[in-house]
Amino acid sequence: MEIKELGEFGLIKRLAEQFSTSHPRVIKGIGDDASVTIQDDSTYLLCTTDTLVEDIHFSLKYTSSYNLGRKAVSISLSDIAAMGGTPTFLLTSIILPPTTSLDFVNLLYKGIKERAEEFGVTLIGGNTTSSPDKIIISTTMLGEVPKNHVILRKGASVGDNIYITGSVGGSALGMKIWKEKGNSIITDPFLKDAMLAHIDPCPRVREGRKIAEKKFATSMIDISDGLISDLRHIAEQSIVGAKVWAKKIPIPTGLKRWLLDHPQDITLALGGGEDYELLFTASKKKGNEIGALSKELDIPITQIGEIVPKENGVTVLDEKDKVFHLTSEGFEHFKSS
Ligand code: ADP
Ligand code: MG
Repeated sequence: MEIKELGEFGLIKRLAEQFSTSHPRVIKGIGDDASVTIQDDSTYLLCTTDTLVEDIHFSLKYTSSYNLGRKAVSISLSDIAAMGGTPTFLLTSIILPPTTSLDFVNLLYKGIKERAEEFGVTLIGGNTTSSPDKIIISTTMLGEVPKNHVILRKGASVGDNIYITGSVGGSALGMKIWKEKGNSIITDPFLKDAMLAHIDPCPRVREGRKIAEKKFATSMIDISDGLISDLRHIAEQSIVGAKVWAKKIPIPTGLKRWLLDHPQDITLALGGGEDYELLFTASKKKGNEIGALSKELDIPITQIGEIVPKENGVTVLDEKDKVFHLTSEGFEHFKSS
């Protein structure tokens, strides 16, 4: 059997079954945005690792090494944010062809340093290895969270509302424009925003901490693979279903304008991925508190759907409440083209 038959998620599921942890200090092993282990009486340690591979996750045709460094840190920060945690320490592994210039490495680490410092994170180690061909950057981020603040993917209940911070689809639109138009001059400021969202996403660490402190989220994940794909992870871990109203999904102005000429590209919002927004569920009673938090943080927090029984599955509904058939739910390694 080839791993493309299983896909990324099928493969992880098999690993999770083989390594179902029973260590007394492990609260959550494989299956969430970060592992959760007991650090001391009042705190959990969070650990997450991510990898960016040239020509899979990024292209040097449109990403500078500086932005690559920033993004490598951002995507791991986002996983700590999704647990409600505070990031603390970082290890970076670089796998580089011998012909890589020293300037490239210097700029990569300038990006890593700046983004890490912005979030109070200290680089404490890593690994350096040669690669036959492509550039690979791997980041391992540690973080911590008070025990009573941690938010898992598991915990959503039928009747909970589904919320997202910010908007989705900008990064996927940005990637499409980078791929189609390359470095040609784009003047539309909203399209430029989308292009920037793709190469330099901003993780919602401050927002994740606030959501955790307020204790209204029953589950949370960051949107890295795609809105529907990541919602499916919450549904699976919480053993529930979910319905989302397509028209309620907040999308950035650039994508709104783009959709006027390319309506089929609504899939960029539903399955585009790499927005690094937070997707969370909360009891219906918490609506006013969530509205107040949105004002306090000065970012949109939008209700996009509702948790339903598992039998109903995960669906997206159009304006007439008809099930929207998705051509793509999100990115999955080995399966996605
Ligand atoms: P995210 O998109 O939030 O980074 P992933 O989909 O990469 O999460 O991973 C989901 C879960 O599977 C995490 O708990 C991660 O640690 C675990 N995981 C992924 N790949 C492996 C692997 N090769 N070995 C062990 N655990 C893995
Ligand atoms: Mg994640």
